[in-house]
Amino acid sequence: LSERIQNALSGLRKKGKVTQTDINQATREIRLALLEADVNFKVVKEFIAKIKERALGSEVLDSLTPGQQIIKIVNEELTQMMGESAVALNKSDKIPTVIMMVGLQGTGKTTTAGKLANRLMAEQKARPLLIAADIYRPAAVDQLKVIGNQLEVPVYEEGVNNSAEDIVRHGMQQAKENKNDYVIIDTAGRLEIDESLMDELKNVKEIAQPDNIVLVADAMTGQAAATVADGFNQALDITGVILTKLDGDTRGGAALSIRSITNKPILYVGEGEKLSDLDIFHPDRMSNRILGMGDMMSLIEKAQQDYDEKNAQELAEKMRENTFDFNDFIAQMDQIQSMGPIDELMKMIPGMANNPALQNINIGEKDIAHLKAIVYSMTPEERENPDILTPSRRRRIAAGSGRNIQEIHRMIKQFKQSKEMMQKVSKGNTSDLEGMLGG
Ligand code: GDP
Ligand code: MG
Repeated sequence: LSERIQNALSGLRKKGKVTQTDINQATREIRLALLEADVNFKVVKEFIAKIKERALGSEVLDSLTPGQQIIKIVNEELTQMMGESAVALNKSDKIPTVIMMVGLQGTGKTTTAGKLANRLMAEQKARPLLIAADIYRPAAVDQLKVIGNQLEVPVYEEGVNNSAEDIVRHGMQQAKENKNDYVIIDTAGRLEIDESLMDELKNVKEIAQPDNIVLVADAMTGQAAATVADGFNQALDITGVILTKLDGDTRGGAALSIRSITNKPILYVGEGEKLSDLDIFHPDRMSNRILGMGDMMSLIEKAQQDYDEKNAQELAEKMRENTFDFNDFIAQMDQIQSMGPIDELMKMIPGMANNPALQNINIGEKDIAHLKAIVYSMTPEERENPDILTPSRRRRIAAGSGRNIQEIHRMIKQFKQSKEMMQKVSKGNTSDLEGMLGG
């Protein structure tokens, strides 16, 4: 599907002038992508309206690369909708800070309680106490005890014969006596939300006065996760969400739906069954995942990050002064090489894909190695003054680099061409050059 979006968008790119119909078509593809990622349909509708509004604005219509511009907007809006990254848990002024885990059965509450304890110990040298308040399955208490053993964290439990309320009351007391700085309460879940479960959780909330009520939601449940999150939030006023099972093949639509419906932050994501498999939530990564265009976006990011702006300016300066030489040529090759797969990178750079000046400069990793070998076989003087490369010097360079003489001729010709091209650009408009180089 990501291919479908790309097709729709590259259609825009070729056209130059964008019409309302084009944008409608592009947003239709994006809409399908979101629905396919199992984002709640109401959330999708809202989102598309926002994209359309921005896409019809001048930033896209006047852009030379409307396709890319729309991807950028979609990504920005998605990221923004999913909220800040790295939202921390609430921390109480006085110990203990209380974290209450809630959620449907099987979503990962018990495992995630352990993961949180593990993380707090690693990050803050915390001394947490786990409370086993799921009294409906004996196995649930045992499961928490196993986790506690693994982490060497105390678990407060009374088996399954007392009420959850009593267990939590007693557990809180023990935490105070033992001066635990965190209490993590593992509660019961059901297959679906029901009133008796909510009543019990409300009571536990009343007793424990938690600083955090963390909803644990299974990312694999897609649209349904949003409805469930809404229910828990209305009943308990949750403070944040942990999305589990993102190591599966889900596209992560649940993240967008839950965030958008509850307006509560996603704190962490679970990416495996091990107690160390808990990561900070990154809205930008999730947005890529939802759109199914992770590879493409990371390429764009890469090109932007890795290109050192200072180098771009120095290069532009050299162009203007006409002092670009083989040393700069090598530096430029290094720069391009360090950014990753060259073919894809070249296509990502606005204007490069169809730039006729580049049609016959077919650069691959191997070619760059050869070009470098040739330059390294030149004397320092030759590198600075391409004009002194007489036929006998060229033969010497060919022998030195192990390339044949035709290659040397071709390389010098390419060098002169690219120098000329850059000069043209730099005389016209330096921002073009910088844009071209990914600045
Ligand atoms: P609870 O009923 O909500 O307490 O859920 P559990 O903590 O017992 O977890 C249910 C199942 O999901 C267990 O088999 C866990 O190992 C598994 N699980 C929990 N979190 C994750 C996760 O992030 N990734 C994967 N793959 N499995 C998870
Ligand atoms: Mg459990």
